[in-house]
Amino acid sequence: MKANLSWWEFDHYLSKVDYTIVGGGIVGLSTAIELKEMFPDTKILIVDKKTLPIGASTKNAGFACFGSISEIVDDLDKYGEEVCRKLIKLRWEGLSILKSRIPHVKMRYRDQPGAEVFISKGEAEAFVEKIGVVNDLVADIVHADQCFNVENGKFGVQINNSLEGSLNPQMMMKELELIARNAGVLFLNGVDVFKIDRVNKTLETNLGKMCFQNLIVCTNGFSRKLLPHIDIHPARNQVFITNRVENFNLEHCYHMNKGFVYFREYNGRLLIGGGRDLDLVGETTSMFGTTERIINYLKDIVSNHILQGVDYEITQQWSGILGVGKSKMPVVKKIEDDIVVAIRMGGMGVAVGSIIGKITAAEISSSDNSAHQLYVS
Ligand SMILES: Cc1cc2nc3c(=O)[nH]c(=O)nc-3n(C[C@H](O)[C@H](O)[C@H](O)COP(=O)(O)OP(=O)(O)OC[C@H]3O[C@@H](n4cnc5c(N)ncnc54)[C@H](O)[C@@H]3O)c2cc1C
Repeated sequence: MKANLSWWEFDHYLSKVDYTIVGGGIVGLSTAIELKEMFPDTKILIVDKKTLPIGASTKNAGFACFGSISEIVDDLDKYGEEVCRKLIKLRWEGLSILKSRIPHVKMRYRDQPGAEVFISKGEAEAFVEKIGVVNDLVADIVHADQCFNVENGKFGVQINNSLEGSLNPQMMMKELELIARNAGVLFLNGVDVFKIDRVNKTLETNLGKMCFQNLIVCTNGFSRKLLPHIDIHPARNQVFITNRVENFNLEHCYHMNKGFVYFREYNGRLLIGGGRDLDLVGETTSMFGTTERIINYLKDIVSNHILQGVDYEITQQWSGILGVGKSKMPVVKKIEDDIVVAIRMGGMGVAVGSIIGKITAAEISSSDNSAHQLYVS
């Protein structure tokens, strides 16, 4: 190692590590927690390239959602019933684990139905007709017959998913980190992994070479350089939040434009994000930043639909990087006996992150390779 580590430091962090996890987002943390529950005496180290996580887990919108109607209908068309149900089940089970792991108040979890808004009645009609089919599709997964319903809402016709919620992603991550630290998981930040040497079982990093026994790669939207053979690419999402607006309160978490735009209220502020469909090529990047074009597009939606005639200011704007691919199914894949990758969480990592952690922990600790075949790209 190039770093000037004392023997104490080396011994604490780097010697005899049973599981090395690259990436400290929701998937890396959930995997570590699961492994500690399964094998309390093992040494687990999470490395991440930055001091603050730069991934999507603390940059997202905090929707605890498992599917809007147009998305589910689209998935049924594209991937068929089996895959569509599998995706919904993963999200539902992931949210159940998350909600049982962290007390609601500690991550500001709130039952808050999702609502997909259709500005034109014509567009809504095709989906209103499908409500029965979609309710039947999800009923046994979510244990409810009437999960979806239609209403004339604040912004036009809306189809609600009555079982969704919202949370504060930073508080969620803080709690997951606490659980992991209390269980004895070690964290080493500022370690940028450049290359995985599968033969010599080492990582090439900015601090020099690091050996591993078992490796789990949870680098999501930043995975291309480490895992060029897997179908994954970055997809940037831009977001802004406004100042507190008087008497502003939204009952639902909203999606528009097939989920490409989303907005919610948080403590009297409006948070809105998305619009990637405006520039799909330009937004296929892992570079942070916001663009005038997309921010202006989001501002138009705010002035024309959400805060008509209201003066507001943008308090903070930012971007986050998703990991997406041709398939929407996350990848949990054993690429060597002692290396598992868990990436491509798409726009639903808050929902699936905890169940993916469980599957990944089972996968890395199992000599049977059959489990991963469910989630291979
Ligand atoms: C703007 C936005 C809004 C979203 N809204 C929602 C939502 O409302 N609901 C929802 O369910 N999902 C949402 N998502 C998606 C969700 O946030 C992600 O799917 C989820 O956070 C992915 O978690 P992860 O652990 O896989 O990856 P990440 O959180 O991206 O973590 C990956 C980590 O790997 C580290 N890393 C990467 N490369 C290296 C390397 N070479 N060496 C060392 N470390 C490395 C990074 O620093 C990072 O901390 C949103 C995403 C964005 C960007």
